[in-house]
Amino acid sequence: MNAFASIQQREKLVIVGNGMVGHHCVEQLIERGALGRFEVRVFGEERQRAYDRVHLSEYFGGSDAEALALGDAGLYAEHGVALHLHEAVLEVDRERREVVTSAGRYAYDRLILATGSYPFVPPIEGSEGAARLVYRTLDDLDNIRAAAASARRGWWSAVACLAWKRPTPSSPSAWKPMWWNSPRA
Ligand SMILES: Cc1cc2nc3c(=O)[nH]c(=O)nc-3n(C[C@H](O)[C@H](O)[C@H](O)COP(=O)(O)OP(=O)(O)OC[C@H]3O[C@@H](n4cnc5c(N)ncnc54)[C@H](O)[C@@H]3O)c2cc1C
Repeated sequence: MNAFASIQQREKLVIVGNGMVGHHCVEQLIERGALGRFEVRVFGEERQRAYDRVHLSEYFGGSDAEALALGDAGLYAEHGVALHLHEAVLEVDRERREVVTSAGRYAYDRLILATGSYPFVPPIEGSEGAARLVYRTLDDLDNIRAAAASARRGWWSAVACLAWKRPTPSSPSAWKPMWWNSPRA
């Protein structure tokens, strides 16, 4: 069997999301030698390649996007992994086994959704439109920085569900969320 034939026979694996999990998944596929079996295509809706979101705040402390980036810049290309940045998957057509983006349709045999979460903003009066800033991406921090340059007052609030607590003998019936609240602003 020649190399071209073996490439033809690889399964098409599409990963939606180039965040911390999507990137780790690619690293694992490379480390475990799975690229002989899978032709991998990754879609990320952000402009930047995967970065360390846990240390996002360091971007305010002077780190640039490249300092927070995960893995070598050439890793995907070196291993033949196609990376589509700033290209969100808008639809998954399960019948045709294709993902749809603004640029086209891409076939998959296997699909991994590593899309993370998004910040939910409760409907608080006055927090509509440009006044409402969230804190999840590098672009969000750029927006906050730009807004802070001209703002006279700001109010910060955050609540996050960090984990789920398993049922205990004293409370056997339900999993309970463990919440984190920001200090009062
Ligand atoms: C400021 C901050 C501090 C944090 N601190 C900690 C911490 O101290 N400890 C901890 O454990 N966790 C922390 N977290 C949470 C941690 O960052 C997340 O748990 C982790 O990033 C989850 O990884 P993920 O790949 O699932 O999601 P993400 O890293 O959010 O990546 C998902 C990616 O998928 C993209 N995406 C979504 N939909 C689509 C689509 N349709 N098409 C293409 N791409 C799409 C998103 O744009 C994003 O780039 C923190 C998060 C933030 C924001």
